[in-house]
Amino acid sequence: MTQTWVQIAYLASAVLFIVGLKNLSSPRTAPRGNGIAAIGMLVAVVATLVSAGVLDWEWMLAGVIVGSGLGTLAARRVKMTAMPEMVALLNGFGGAASALVAAAVLEDHVAKGVPPVDVVAIATVLGTLIGAVTFTGSLVAFAKLAERMPTAPITYPGQQVVNALIALGITVLCVILAVDPLQLDLYWGLMAAALVLGVLVVIPIGGADMPVVIALLNSYSGLAACATGFVLGNSGLVISGSLVGASGIILSKIMCDAMNRSLANVLFGAFGSAPAASAASSGPQGTVKGYTPEDAAVIFSNASSCIVVPGYGMAVAQAQHAVRDLGDLLEAKGIRVRFAIHPVAGRMPGHMNVLLAEANVPYDRLVEMDEINPEFPATDVALVIGANDVVNPSARSEEGSPIYGMPILDVDRAQHVFVIKRSMNPGFAGVQNPLFFNDNTMMIFGDAKSVVLQLVEAIKAY
Ligand code: NAP
Repeated sequence: MTQTWVQIAYLASAVLFIVGLKNLSSPRTAPRGNGIAAIGMLVAVVATLVSAGVLDWEWMLAGVIVGSGLGTLAARRVKMTAMPEMVALLNGFGGAASALVAAAVLEDHVAKGVPPVDVVAIATVLGTLIGAVTFTGSLVAFAKLAERMPTAPITYPGQQVVNALIALGITVLCVILAVDPLQLDLYWGLMAAALVLGVLVVIPIGGADMPVVIALLNSYSGLAACATGFVLGNSGLVISGSLVGASGIILSKIMCDAMNRSLANVLFGAFGSAPAASAASSGPQGTVKGYTPEDAAVIFSNASSCIVVPGYGMAVAQAQHAVRDLGDLLEAKGIRVRFAIHPVAGRMPGHMNVLLAEANVPYDRLVEMDEINPEFPATDVALVIGANDVVNPSARSEEGSPIYGMPILDVDRAQHVFVIKRSMNPGFAGVQNPLFFNDNTMMIFGDAKSVVLQLVEAIKAY
């Protein structure tokens, strides 16, 4: 009877996870989605606690206290901008937990001298492999994002061959262990090789591509949990692991599409190893028009509509509060203000949404790329703040450019374009931007925060 209720509870938690995920698809409903999914997790945890006596209550309680204590502390202390690092660590610990559970179950079988049934043997091997790769891969991703190790791709001759040989050795070990699982020496050899592989596959990826890698490792941690669900015969873990696995891979795909890069290019392309300046100097050249905030204030004061396009530079300058003040000021002057959000502006999914939400910019002012693009031709001023690649028109026309085919925000089609950045340096893709040389583009050079603050003062004074 209890087991039936446990299964029903797992089903209910799966439904709550799915509804939670659906709500996560918009910043407006995301907090609610988080809450619903958290309730789903609570239901699953309680169901597991009351199910067949596989658990030791004291250990569980200790785990809950230590885990939630550390989790609460970390979540309260982490800065919004350091969220990808935290997600990387959480993925890594998820992977490690799956691998350790698989190891413990196998040790148990070895102690009893009874081999697990085939499906459990295969799941043990897969849970160990994926979990261990996820653990060390996530630690490297964390270290690169936090700049605790060189962020540039680490490459050496024959690197792919070395990785392929290790992967081949791992495959052989997996097959042997799936057929004859009670060989502990080989099992720990598999664990060690998988830990090494996790490091080796992530070091050749550049720091700026880490958000895609983290989304992928998130997917792996879900697959590892799913495998552990089979090891333990726990359907709740199988379902939640599959959901994490699927959503992580969908997010990786969305990010790659928005950058017009394949997942293979992100994983094996060592993007970012060439110096950016060389690519930039071969791009379009010409004269740019430098404007002061006071010059710009004249045009703003005569405008009736403005689209603000934030990018990575706004995050670097932490200019989001100043940008919100500018938006409020323009609105107070009767100018219609909207914020155009490119899916890969910044360096992590939702980067601009997070920063603007932190500065209390109302959600209804944030407009996605496809919706805002047709509006640019009828807009008086497009204000680009620290964005570069996501507004680079050569993505439309220049075959051979690293960003060719990447969907962009059509700011060049607005009546006037102001670009705030510190220099003519390129952005993440390392290519020069012809937008800066257009007749209707005016550059305001300087740090995004200080320029926006000056602009606010100049508009007030005009
Ligand atoms: P971007 O192309 O990297 O350009 C950012 C610009 O900001 C730079 O040209 C830089 O120029 C300027 N900048 C830096 N610090 C500044 C400061 N303090 N004040 C003013 N300007 C500053 O950024 P983006 O247009 O947001 O495009 C994002 C790029 O990252 C895309 O290529 C995307 O594919 C890639 N990417 C995104 C994600 C994601 O999940 N969002 C993940 C991986 C990769 P100066 O140095 O001249 O100031």
